[in-house]
Amino acid sequence: MPLYAARIEDLGPGDFVQVRCIACGHDELIPKSSLLHGLRLPPTTLVLDLEPRLRCRECDVRNKAIVSIRWAAGGERRNGSKSSRAERYLRSRVQQGARFSIWG
Ligand SMILES: [Zn+2]
Repeated sequence: MPLYAARIEDLGPGDFVQVRCIACGHDELIPKSSLLHGLRLPPTTLVLDLEPRLRCRECDVRNKAIVSIRWAAGGERRNGSKSSRAERYLRSRVQQGARFSIWG
C-alpha cells in the first residue's frame, strides 16, 4: 500500500508510523494503538495528514515532521533471521509516541 493512501486503520499489530523531526533529528516509531489511544486520532486519519499536525516535544517545533510507515518485516521475508532481528530492533525503538504530540 502506498504511503499517501494509508490510513491509521490500515496498520497491523507489527506496523509502525515512523516520525522524524527534521529540525532536531529526533525520530521514533509509533504503533497504531498509540495513534488511536495516545494521540486520540480517528482510525480513518490518513497517515500523511499527520505531518502538519505533529509537534516535536524535543525542540518544540511544529510542522517539521516527516512520516513514513514501517510495515511489519514484510519486505524482508526472503531472509527469515534478518526479519526477526529487524523486528527486535524496531521494537526496541518504539516509544509509544511520547515525544510527538498533535496540535491544531
Ligand atoms: Zn524536534
